Parts: sequence; structure tokens; C-alpha cells
Amino acid sequence: MTSVVERLSGGSPVFSVEFFPPRDAADETVLWRAIRELEPLDPAFVSITYGAGGSSRDRTIRTTGRVVQETTLVPMAHLTAVDHSVAELRNVIGWYAAVGVRNILAVRGDPPGDPNGEWVPHPDGLTYAEELVRLCRELGDFCVGVAAFPYGHPRSADLDEDTRYLVRKLRAGADFAIAQLFLDVDDFLRLRDRVRAVGCDTPLLPGLMPLTTPRTLAKTVELSGAPLPPAVARRLEPLAGDAAAFREAGVDLVTEMGERLLAEGVPALHFYTFNRSKATREVVGRLGLVPARA
Ligand code: FAD
Repeated sequence: MTSVVERLSGGSPVFSVEFFPPRDAADETVLWRAIRELEPLDPAFVSITYGAGGSSRDRTIRTTGRVVQETTLVPMAHLTAVDHSVAELRNVIGWYAAVGVRNILAVRGDPPGDPNGEWVPHPDGLTYAEELVRLCRELGDFCVGVAAFPYGHPRSADLDEDTRYLVRKLRAGADFAIAQLFLDVDDFLRLRDRVRAVGCDTPLLPGLMPLTTPRTLAKTVELSGAPLPPAVARRLEPLAGDAAAFREAGVDLVTEMGERLLAEGVPALHFYTFNRSKATREVVGRLGLVPARA
């Protein structure tokens, strides 16, 4: 099974996609339609998220296992430390290995219920993603990714502290990091500069979400943790009442962000898809990130 890092080292930029594990049969149909539509475009990898406190554990294992068995795609399973003892984490990592998953995104996770609530580690568990990276490394030949935050993680006191812990986490054995959403490319580039400035050259992948509706824009702003940039507001907000015009302008905007990031030398663009493929296919097609035959 190919590793994410192998897919990032091909010399030309690539793209990857993120899905969440289906909750029911209807979700499953939607997800697998998206997977089948994206498969011919040869994404570098597809990642499957992990629900808070292990709520999606079996579905994440099953979905990544199905990707291994039924597609040509390279899967990456997310894993969080929330509400898990180290023994349980070892178990999940063992199941990932058993279904053929070689790539893991090791994140700490947020407290269940209120994501801004107090973080309380499991009494026999882990406190930081850095420890989860070490555990994955200890248990097998995994390719391990971590999360990065262009505006700093909301719990970090400032960007210096955030960079210090991000770099510790990368040096604990991470092969790459995927960034949380942002709407100003300069903010991602500043994150990359901060990491490079302390001598760390681990690949950082920007995360993008196609802005097809006012809802996806609001979600992006919420997840980014930063205010809506005025330039984006001026461009998209006046179109909020015209679905087709909003979608067109939103897809244009994300395509332009992708162009700039590729010109800045990022190895890959990671797309948060919410299990839909159409807009991502449009953007990667316009950016020339798909094989000629597709
Ligand atoms: P950590 O790296 O542990 O950092 C948490 C906080 O602790 C930060 O403020 C950091 O600066 C600080 N810190 C880190 N190390 C130390 C240390 N040694 N000493 C003191 N302070 C330290 N959540 C899910 O539930 N499921 C998912 O599948 C999922 N996938 C994600 C994918 C991506 C690409 C991203 C960006 C986020 C994802 N998340 C997911 C959300 C993530 O779990 C939360 O944002 C969580 O709050 C932070 O996780 P982390 O791995 O960055 O934590």
C-alpha cells in the first residue's frame, strides 16, 4: 500500500480529498458516488475523519477498509485521542493495519459536546497529538500526518507558542501536516514561513473547501477561526441571494487560491469535500491537477 509521502514526492503537485464516514445507508450512497466520481482523477490520497470520542470508530475502519479493497485509491484514516485509553488507541491502530491502512492523521480531537470546553484527557490516555504521533510510529510502519492552524490553534496563547508545539509534533515523527481552512493565502504562507524559520521543512498541505453556497462560506469562516477577509466579503456577500452567481464566484475564488498556492510551491491541495465531488472536480480540473486521460 502506497504511503501519502510517496504520493507527495512525485515531483508535480497533486490534490487530496477528505470525507467523513457515512452514518446511514443514504449517506453511504452519497459518499460512494463521490468516491467513484473522484477515483478517475487520481487524488494522491483520500482521508476519512474520526468522530469525537470514537463515535465513528467502526465506520472509519470499515470505510477505509472498503477503500483499500474496492478502489485504486490510497486511504488515510484519522484518529483522535478523545475518550480513549492508550490500550484502545493501540487497538484502533491495529485494526487500521489489519484492513490495510498505512496512513494515519493523528489529531488530538476536541472535547465531546462543546469543542471549546475543557480538555480532559482519558485517565489512561494521551494529552497531545504529539504523543499519538509517537504511538503510531511505535506500533508500525505508518505514514503519519498532523493538523496545523494558519491562525494558531484556538487554545494556543500566541503564534510563537503554536509554532513551537506544531514543530515539536512534526519532529516527533510526523511526515506531513494538513492545514485548517483559511481564506487568505498569505495567512497559510505565513504559517509555512514560521515553520521554515525554525528549520523544519516537513511538507505542509493547505486545506481548501469549494465555496459553493453561503453556508460553505460560513462554515469555512467558523472552522478557520479568523474573521471573513474583507476582499472575500466584497466579492461573495452581494451574491448571497443568487445561488448560481454565488457558486460561480465561489468556485472561481477557490480556484484562484489554488493557483496562487501552487505557484508558491505547495506539494498538494487538500479539499474538504463534505462527501460531494462536483465542485472539487471542477476546481482540480481547472488547476490542471488531473491526469490527461480523465
Ligand atoms: P494538539 O497538537 O495536541 O494541540 C492542541 C493544543 O495543545 C494546541 O493549542 C497546541 O499548541 C497545544 N499543545 C500541543 N502540544 C503541546 C505540549 N506538548 N505542551 C503544551 N501544549 C501543547 N477532529 C476530530 O475529532 N476528528 C477528525 O477526524 C479531525 N480531523 C482534523 C483534520 C484536520 C486537517 C484538522 C486541521 C483538524 C481536524 N480535527 C479533527 C480537529 C482537531 O482534532 C482539533 O482542532 C483539536 O482541537 C486539535 O487537534 P491537534 O491534533 O492539533 O492537537
